[in-house]
Amino acid sequence: MFTANMAREWVKESSKKIEGNKDQLTNLDQALGDGDHGLNMTRGLKAAVEQLDEDTDEPGQVLKGVGKSLLSKVGGASGPLYGTFFMKAGNHLEGSKVEFSELASGLRIGVDGMKKRGKTERDEKTMIDLLEPVIEVMEERGNDVTPDHLMERANKSLDMVMEYEAKKGRAAYYKEKSKGKQDAGAQSSYYIIQALAEVIKK
Ligand code: ADP
Ligand code: MG
Ligand code: MG
Repeated sequence: MFTANMAREWVKESSKKIEGNKDQLTNLDQALGDGDHGLNMTRGLKAAVEQLDEDTDEPGQVLKGVGKSLLSKVGGASGPLYGTFFMKAGNHLEGSKVEFSELASGLRIGVDGMKKRGKTERDEKTMIDLLEPVIEVMEERGNDVTPDHLMERANKSLDMVMEYEAKKGRAAYYKEKSKGKQDAGAQSSYYIIQALAEVIKK
């Protein structure tokens, strides 16, 4: 079961990981963009933690709030995209005890919203290349999903996205030269998934 406390833990742990790896995210975005991804994400998740709904017992409410914080605090491409992801996922979840299969459905709606908003498909070297495969394994495994399933898929996807040619955002200007370099957004998504895996493990 996925609870409001787990949703809050997920956000706090994501924020810690992103802040702890801020320089790496900045460096990745410097190589293929404008170098603000570390700062954007740290600012956004800090705001999400500060504005976290500590009173609700509904995980959907928690995630909706996170989406709002990200939408209002992060300029850049990543704010509206992650904002949409959490908002749409949160909107789908109902009640205080959410099955993992339901969480998977919510995150599916979130990532579909992200794809629509960014006009992005798979294999275009964005955070979607990290998030969507992980959500797929959640859909496949349903309530039997484990943290190892998540991390196996996340690790594999992180390796794959590095080799893609960027088609979206500032990185697309680099065309062929973007191959072999990691996408900053895929890396931040990796930390967010790692945080979720840890929360499920507890
Ligand atoms: P900005 O590019 O506006 O400076 P960030 O640096 O915060 O914003 O975020 C960059 C990341 O956003 C990229 O690494 C990529 O993963 C993701 N991204 C950029 N454009 C798109 C898009 N159209 N669809 C999905 N993801 C995108
Ligand atoms: Mg940037
Ligand atoms: Mg920017």
